[in-house]
Amino acid sequence: RTVYVNGAFVPEDEAKVSIFDRGFLFADGVYEVTSVLDGKLVDFAGHMKRLERSLTELDMPSPASTEELLQIHRELVTRNGLGEGLIYLQITRGAPADRDFVFPDPEETAPTLVLFTQTKGIVDSPGAATGITVITIDDLRWGRRDIKTVQLLYPSMGKMMAKAAGAGDAWMVEDGEVTEGTSNNAYIVTGGKIVTRHLGNEILHGITRAAVLRFAREAQMEVDERPFTVEEAKAADEAFVTSASAFVTPVVAIDGVSLGDGTPGPVARRLREIYVDEMKKAAV
Ligand code: PMP
Repeated sequence: RTVYVNGAFVPEDEAKVSIFDRGFLFADGVYEVTSVLDGKLVDFAGHMKRLERSLTELDMPSPASTEELLQIHRELVTRNGLGEGLIYLQITRGAPADRDFVFPDPEETAPTLVLFTQTKGIVDSPGAATGITVITIDDLRWGRRDIKTVQLLYPSMGKMMAKAAGAGDAWMVEDGEVTEGTSNNAYIVTGGKIVTRHLGNEILHGITRAAVLRFAREAQMEVDERPFTVEEAKAADEAFVTSASAFVTPVVAIDGVSLGDGTPGPVARRLREIYVDEMKKAAV
């Protein structure tokens, strides 16, 4: 596999980053994951817009323009013959001369830019057909979840808790209300409405979420952006999650409580279909 690191396309075992890189020492970095369908980028503009916002919020300089990043993404797709899968992009505050909590002077330390591809079946994933089960766990992350940082230890622990419980994923809960999944946004369908938490610092502003809510509204489905409780979720007609790597994936049980008849619900299935169709058309 060819990867990209700081201006060069190199074989993955030749790619190197300093041990003083602040991404490595402080999780001082941001990332994006863009899906690829038929060799094209899904919602690239949305991901780059959020990347810019993450960088701005952390006062981190961008090492490349959106146009340059587009060319790097495309070059990696071509070099690796990627048909369907993901492109991971990471920018960290780089490698100053020594470890220091204080941000280095941007004149003296350049950011580190890394990209790599992952081949993955997204359209025909097993979770899409059968749905996944989730458990609920406390949301113990920091307070700026709207910034897409590489600080993913707690979400990893959440996935491990889910695995230990025999579930597919975990939904995180704060003050009795669901914030989001460990790596996706969370939704329920109740009272004929799609309910998902409103945007704020408490959740990541999912690029897939924005597109799916737009498609839902265009299809005359009612959307309610508000917090929902675990109790409400367990009593819902159906549930689902969205992310760049899972698109729309149905959730069929929460903490062992089956939703509806325990199979993927009609709203989740329909939204997934619309999402895949529309995104294939709009991919660049
Ligand atoms: N929430 C969290 C915590 C995530 O990690 C992700 C995926 N990175 C999402 C939501 C979904 O975001 P997107 O649709 O942009 O992939």
